[in-house]
Amino acid sequence: MTGEDPTTADATQVVAIDGPAGTGKSSVSRLLADEIGAQYLDTGAMYRAASLAVLRAGLAPDDEDAVANLVSGLTIDLRDRDGDTVVLLDDEDVSTAIRAADVTAAVSAVAANAAVREQMVRLQQEVAQGRFVVVEGRDIGTVVFPDAELKVFLTATPEARALRRHRQNLANGTESDLDEVLASVNRRDHLDSTRAVSPLRRAEDALEFDTSDLTLAQVLAALTEMVQQRIGVQR
Ligand code: C5P
Repeated sequence: MTGEDPTTADATQVVAIDGPAGTGKSSVSRLLADEIGAQYLDTGAMYRAASLAVLRAGLAPDDEDAVANLVSGLTIDLRDRDGDTVVLLDDEDVSTAIRAADVTAAVSAVAANAAVREQMVRLQQEVAQGRFVVVEGRDIGTVVFPDAELKVFLTATPEARALRRHRQNLANGTESDLDEVLASVNRRDHLDSTRAVSPLRRAEDALEFDTSDLTLAQVLAALTEMVQQRIGVQR
């Protein structure tokens, strides 16, 4: 007998990384997970997969009932393949398709759907169950894992975030216009932080960290340090 409550005694340990688009969340979360021996969970990829299905079905992303109905019948799964997240939509690998510009334009409307969020949050909690995970998103510290061992809220100026996205696009061989990227970043920030359900906001107990003037390596070093202080070294 350890005296622990059996309903709360499980091995789940969560590092929650939230923040707006272009703060470097994805890159640093993936590297951090590798560094500390945790699994990486990209929750934005789940909303993107749902949005891809909505577009393929020819639905308007803001048609609440039709979208909720469609998404409730989807199977979305994330797999780890050599450190990369593979996103499966009804068993089809859609990892590349979910990054297309039309999906990015539609995703905030789909993610504002309460029924979709409920389904995704449940899925995220199931995937993390019993694991050591770095979970990246918008509502991880506030809604999905309010008891996370460590919560970090990454910020950066809109200009710094747009410039990062612009450079990523160019590096990927995607056409990119900096002004358009900035407008898209601002539009998504507005939609994500003003929606009624689980808006993007910093959890009260999250550590806020401004990445505007830092390199990826510097952000990774700082986050690794935070994990070591809060959770201890894992390997
Ligand atoms: O992180 P990423 O840019 O891939 O996220 C795509 C979109 O998914 C966000 O703009 C947001 O609308 C939505 N999202 C969310 N909650 C999360 C993760 C992503 O609403 N936990």
